Amino acid sequence: MEIIPVIPRGYCKGVVRAINLAKETAQKYPNTPITMLGMIVHNQYVVEACEKLGIHCIEEKGKTRLELLDKINDGIVIFTAHGVSEEVIKKAQQKGLITIDASCDDVTKTQSIVKDYLENNYDVLYIGKKNHPEAEAVVAISPHVHFIETEQDLDNLPSFNKVMITNQTTMSIFEIYKILEACKQKYADVEILDEICNATRIRQEAIMKLENIDCLLVVGDPKSNNSNKLKEIALERNIPAVYLLETAKDIEEEWIKDKNRIAVTSGASTPTYLTNQVIKMLQHYAETTELIKPEIDINQLLD
Ligand code: SF4
Repeated sequence: MEIIPVIPRGYCKGVVRAINLAKETAQKYPNTPITMLGMIVHNQYVVEACEKLGIHCIEEKGKTRLELLDKINDGIVIFTAHGVSEEVIKKAQQKGLITIDASCDDVTKTQSIVKDYLENNYDVLYIGKKNHPEAEAVVAISPHVHFIETEQDLDNLPSFNKVMITNQTTMSIFEIYKILEACKQKYADVEILDEICNATRIRQEAIMKLENIDCLLVVGDPKSNNSNKLKEIALERNIPAVYLLETAKDIEEEWIKDKNRIAVTSGASTPTYLTNQVIKMLQHYAETTELIKPEIDINQLLD
């Protein structure tokens, strides 16, 4: 059995920055309540590690960032790597909160592009994942931003004088390609700005280059869009067995038994520590056929 750690995998620059900002904030303000507006990155283990530093995370299914802000009345609020709308920033300031913005540069760049086009009287079509905070912040910019999740959503849109289409940074290359092609059919003059971030793109391209793989393990949280997209890409590439798992503890022997080549990747918000545990466990299994599940040391997750 051969274990192939896919390169690149794991934390992107936006996640590293968000985690460092959270750690610095906890150190700088030891006696002030600190609340994260949503999951700092979409990984439950990272959120738990932040809680240990005294950073409380609030997240509630179906609630927007603006609604969640009602629950924070004092101290510091940290905005997550997924970006935030101007409305949320303003409301936090009006409440007298100290704001720390961990938005990724690539996310704010897409927001700026959208605003520039709107100022030039374009309607903007935005491909994203429903209820995802990054999409929520972009759609909040203007009623002239139209959210699209599938090709079918294009059918419900009217014609526009000037139209541009762009996307959430963590979408899959395949998924947006299909929607962009359908969009070109409907709007001949559409301007296309592919905003998949470099970290997402190179992780997806690495999966597309894999050959003769029997099984791919994607280490990532089920809420992580980029981890889910890595799984989808692998299925598109006809890798016979693909699993999304949070930690080495989730691995079942049936997944890996009798496989010749097993590749391992991880989403941009997955701690390297968790992915390394998976790789080490597989390597041990390859040598001994013993499946020993490791304990997780939460203190190592933010390094
Ligand atoms: S996945 Fe891309 S957009 Fe998201 S935090 Fe990482 S670099 Fe930024």
